[in-house]
Amino acid sequence: MENAIHWFRRDLRIHDNNGLQLAARRAGAVIGVFVIDNRWFPADAEKTGAFQATFWLESLRELATALDRHHIPLRILRSDDPVKSILNLARETHAGLITFNKDYEPQQLAMDRRLAREAAKCGIETAGVKDAVIFEEFEILTGSQSTYTVFTPYKKAWLAKFTPDHAEDGGLPRISHRHPMPSDSVPTAESLGYAKVTLPIAAGEVGGSAMLSEFVRHRVGYYKKDRDYPAIPGTSAQSSHLSAGTVSVRQCVRAAVQQGALRGCGGAEHWLSELIWREFYKMVLFHFPHTVRQAFQERYNHLTWSNPDEHIQSWMQGHTGYPIVDAAIRQIQTTGLMHNRLRMITAMFLTKDLDTDWRIGERCFMRWLMDYDQASNVGGWQWSAGTGTDAAPYFRIMNPILQAQRYDPQGDFVRSMLPVLARVPTKFIHEPWIMPISLQRECGCVIGGDYPAPIVDHGKAREAAIMKFQVG
Ligand SMILES: Cc1cc2nc3c(=O)[nH]c(=O)nc-3n(C[C@H](O)[C@H](O)[C@H](O)COP(=O)(O)OP(=O)(O)OC[C@H]3O[C@@H](n4cnc5c(N)ncnc54)[C@H](O)[C@@H]3O)c2cc1C
Repeated sequence: MENAIHWFRRDLRIHDNNGLQLAARRAGAVIGVFVIDNRWFPADAEKTGAFQATFWLESLRELATALDRHHIPLRILRSDDPVKSILNLARETHAGLITFNKDYEPQQLAMDRRLAREAAKCGIETAGVKDAVIFEEFEILTGSQSTYTVFTPYKKAWLAKFTPDHAEDGGLPRISHRHPMPSDSVPTAESLGYAKVTLPIAAGEVGGSAMLSEFVRHRVGYYKKDRDYPAIPGTSAQSSHLSAGTVSVRQCVRAAVQQGALRGCGGAEHWLSELIWREFYKMVLFHFPHTVRQAFQERYNHLTWSNPDEHIQSWMQGHTGYPIVDAAIRQIQTTGLMHNRLRMITAMFLTKDLDTDWRIGERCFMRWLMDYDQASNVGGWQWSAGTGTDAAPYFRIMNPILQAQRYDPQGDFVRSMLPVLARVPTKFIHEPWIMPISLQRECGCVIGGDYPAPIVDHGKAREAAIMKFQVG
């Protein structure tokens, strides 16, 4: 075959990219394409926020250079209809094959099915390839051939099926002939209308691999011990890279296995388990696509939420009066990331303490996160709301004060994010409203003035939430 097109989506890397490799094996010349979907990308679209857009476009710029070195031009198309644009490009370049790595989000799946149908009508072959996960679709099923909906047995089955071949490195594509089409320049996020943001980590394949090596060499051994403390860089920070595909999941799994994940080495074993959570949620979304909008546990679909506007605004602005919640919101808004423990605390606070529909929080995170991934985000929000697979039982509601005292014992994280609390003594850092007024004045943190009073009483809110779920 003469020419093939590889459609880059959540796989912005040249190394170990299964779909790209297939195109390179089958065709003489390969053209890469990335579509800036006008419904998802501009600053006013609801899906992609400034941090994720910037991370993706910076990664794409690096990818364009790498592809160029390997004789692959990269086209950047802006479109309201990616399927139509890709087909036009295929016709224009006489491509006989379009490859892409499979994505399990319902909207993307629908688009891929349409591409396959319409391409077939024009005599163009399409190939969707497994790349984003180790096991997909129907590869991990229960003994009765149904889908796992609880994580622990899924993980057990995943580990039983896994052999090192599953994480083999696919290497680099070898292309002998360069298609004459010139590459397009990659726009900046600002040129698409986004505010300028500074990324907290390096984007792109090179940065992703360097971060992974550093984590594996120096920190994975402490992962189990450190991973819950937001003031400690105890986790890998690979989520943005996994979400954009600037590192491959095989690279991560290989690293975990090399560090003893299958031999009971605590840190690596635990880290591998988190990578399996990621796949679990992707497959939950694949098998139950309606959970993007509806509760996984159907009995909770008719729950009503009061969605108090003023409280939601306070949460969104980090003005709840609970320092750990406000610090976490500040972290996500200034870095595009939020520590996992804090995602659980803030999501539970919004859904349980503020009686707010999890879909409202899920949409906020979608716009704020640099690592936004629909499966993990929906999974995380439904888990926190108590409506999801394997969810926290409705009566287990995180107490934001106790959580903060346990996981930020000296208040280092809170102080780093909320300078107004910098001089509050550790004893009061997570509940500054109980400080005597004289001390509040002394440390420049008068409650109700310098820093808000708690917008709800956690104890009362907790009781109301339990009652609601019990009745529901
Ligand atoms: C309410 C809520 C929303 C979330 N939204 C997202 C999201 O949009 N995108 C996203 O990637 N993760 C999301 N998570 C999961 C988790 O918080 C992040 O993956 C994690 O904080 C990323 O940090 P890390 O890369 O240092 O992870 P590490 O602890 O180093 O873990 C390694 C990798 O495993 C995966 N992983 C870790 N924890 C989870 C988890 N609980 N669920 C699924 N995968 C996991 C990630 O890909 C991560 O990069 C969400 C969690 C909650 C509770």
